[in-house]
Amino acid sequence: MLLRRLREIMAEPKDTQARLDMVVRAIAANMVAEVCSLYLLRANGLLELFATEGLNPEAIHQTHLKVGEGLVGLIAETADYVSLPDAQAHPHFAYRPETGEEIYKSLMGVPMLRGGRVIGVLVVQNRTMRHYEEEEVESLQTIAMLLAEVVASEALPETKPGIEGWTPSGISAVLAEARSHRFLGRGMAEGIAFGKVVLHAPRVDITHIIATDVRAERVLLDNSLQDLLKEVEGMLSSDKLARAGEHRDVLEAYQMFAKDRGWTNRLREAVESGLTAAAAAERVQMENRARMQRVSDPYLRERLQDLDDLSNRLLRHLTGQIQPPGSLQLPDDTIVLARNMGPTELLDYDRSKLKGVVVEEGSDTSHVAIVARALEIPMVGGAAYILDWVEPGDSIILDGELGAVYVRPTEDVIAAYTERMAMRARKQAQFDALRGLPAVTRDGLAIRLDINAGLIVDLPHLDDTGADGIGLFRTELQFLISALFPRFEVQRDLYGRVLDVAGNRRVIFRTLDVGADKTLPYLRQRGEENPALGWRGTRLAMERPSLLKYQLRALLAAAAGRELNLMFPMISEIAEFRQARAMVDTELERLTRQGLAPPATLNIGTMLEVPSLVWQLPHLLPLVDFISIGSNDLMQFFYAYDRENPKFAGRYDSLSAPSLQLMQYIVQQCDLHRVPVSVCGELASRPLEAMALIGLGYRSLSMSPMSIGPVKLMVMNLNAAGAAEIVTRGVALNQPVREQLVEFADRNNIPY
Ligand code: PEP
Ligand code: MG
Repeated sequence: MLLRRLREIMAEPKDTQARLDMVVRAIAANMVAEVCSLYLLRANGLLELFATEGLNPEAIHQTHLKVGEGLVGLIAETADYVSLPDAQAHPHFAYRPETGEEIYKSLMGVPMLRGGRVIGVLVVQNRTMRHYEEEEVESLQTIAMLLAEVVASEALPETKPGIEGWTPSGISAVLAEARSHRFLGRGMAEGIAFGKVVLHAPRVDITHIIATDVRAERVLLDNSLQDLLKEVEGMLSSDKLARAGEHRDVLEAYQMFAKDRGWTNRLREAVESGLTAAAAAERVQMENRARMQRVSDPYLRERLQDLDDLSNRLLRHLTGQIQPPGSLQLPDDTIVLARNMGPTELLDYDRSKLKGVVVEEGSDTSHVAIVARALEIPMVGGAAYILDWVEPGDSIILDGELGAVYVRPTEDVIAAYTERMAMRARKQAQFDALRGLPAVTRDGLAIRLDINAGLIVDLPHLDDTGADGIGLFRTELQFLISALFPRFEVQRDLYGRVLDVAGNRRVIFRTLDVGADKTLPYLRQRGEENPALGWRGTRLAMERPSLLKYQLRALLAAAAGRELNLMFPMISEIAEFRQARAMVDTELERLTRQGLAPPATLNIGTMLEVPSLVWQLPHLLPLVDFISIGSNDLMQFFYAYDRENPKFAGRYDSLSAPSLQLMQYIVQQCDLHRVPVSVCGELASRPLEAMALIGLGYRSLSMSPMSIGPVKLMVMNLNAAGAAEIVTRGVALNQPVREQLVEFADRNNIPY
């Protein structure tokens, strides 16, 4: 009854404050309490008294408590309820004279949870030393859940400043502020996007919160729990999984949870309190998420994560909403949010509608980020917990430069970003103006600037950026986006098309680099403990020589009568290079035997991505036509960090002495042997890092297309001798150079 009454009150055409006042009055009456107070958590981190029945009305909007302060603050901090017959005796009790609460003895308070986060606190108090029953706590929790939902979905008035009835400090503004949220992650692909939230793994919608027939809901819950258990058991006994170790562990944990009395009891209690079974499952899930955010033990967190997944499954059983991924109807300005995503999953989305991507995990060298940059889709990674905070259809702004995401942005944020978009457009016009100009430093050094590419969609970038050529063509992207192994003709046509578009601009094709995070759906790979150190790149290609053989055949055929530049990924020792090169020779012989035209020129080089190869350079260089440094992998192996692990993003500075010394040694060796060298990892894409590379002696850089403009602008304003002095000193004194380079650039007006 009360729940229905609360919904009616909130739907009344009154101002928000008046409705909240009615709400607390109704709750107090229903719970037979003298006091009912509602506190909302404001963006400044303070809990503000928003409405009260029983306390001094003058205290409304005047009383504030920090999270952790007083009993209300304790409830917000722990996201847990408090029920005390003698509240004033509790060590956390904080007396606020303006409220006049000294006459009330007992207190019961519960957090208002929204998406696993505390957005406020709901409290009732009584004059007597009352022992609140467990059912009363349950009821108050249910009320708080409904209230949290109503408050969070409260519509903003249409009115704007200057129009009567609008008060900037008014409740609507506070609610807008409480709803809006900023997440700081890492920019993974540049650009700004405005749009609407689309969940990569869609969440289940719950339309009815309040049960009309509690008994029916109880039965539904029990049946769905049974179905869930059967489903998990079915998965466990399936042949496919019988041998899969890791998966099985996870499922066994699921099975354990599905039988777990604690969990099922909490679900049942929530149903008894008047919620529908689906709303009960959601409430328990939210409490679970709130717990998840408080635990730091990684094992426990994982278990809670499993329980979260299981709750989603249960919700699907309860509501029958089993939407297969990919059946999504996308809005025109889709911003996809995911925990993490593979590069192929990103490519599944309709490019014309996809405006941005946000992932909770991920780092800027993961392949999904590389694909996002190729497609020029702004992307932010490391936005922890954002999924707990958004609803599909929410408006969202994504800033791939600062790594910021604004959920339900306020008017001023929207205005600021509209201005930033305009500024970016002006900057882009500046880069466009440089398109036809050569990249030459102030002191006369010509720097070759190439783009990295891998898909047909990348090819127009050659013209729009005015790049010299393609320094790295990642052939595996074509393999990654196809559902089946691309046939010889399909491969040949793609390579031919690339060469056609490039014309007389140089293209360097890299042979298939799969393994690690780039897994092909149709190529079965054994499970590995450390895929980054496993069967990948040329190692894998050697183990399955037919893959590489067909690819080489396609490349040679595509380049008939033209120049072909080829390189191999992930070479660890000279023998591997020799072996791969021998395969090219075999294919060439085959071609000549068949009387087909070979490429007019053939240059064969290698990627330098494994530190061991650096120490073989004097012996390797006489064998190769060029070297291309894959700094993403080279730095990962050099510093021994996982490039996919967001924890390490930015932790090891490539502009510190060890890596600079490594890069200096490589360029010196290549110069000594007169072997052309370039850098094609993400390092070359960032103007400041590119400046350091030029200082070290690099004259050829290959980068994501979006970086050509900023890097060229830097080059054209650079005095390379100045940068050389700083990096050489850094290496000699074993000191990082980032700060000095920033200071040097600022002093000389070099944009970076
Ligand atoms: C690299 O490792 O730097 C590189 C360019 O290759 P990928 O990023 O494709 O592994
Ligand atoms: Mg690599």
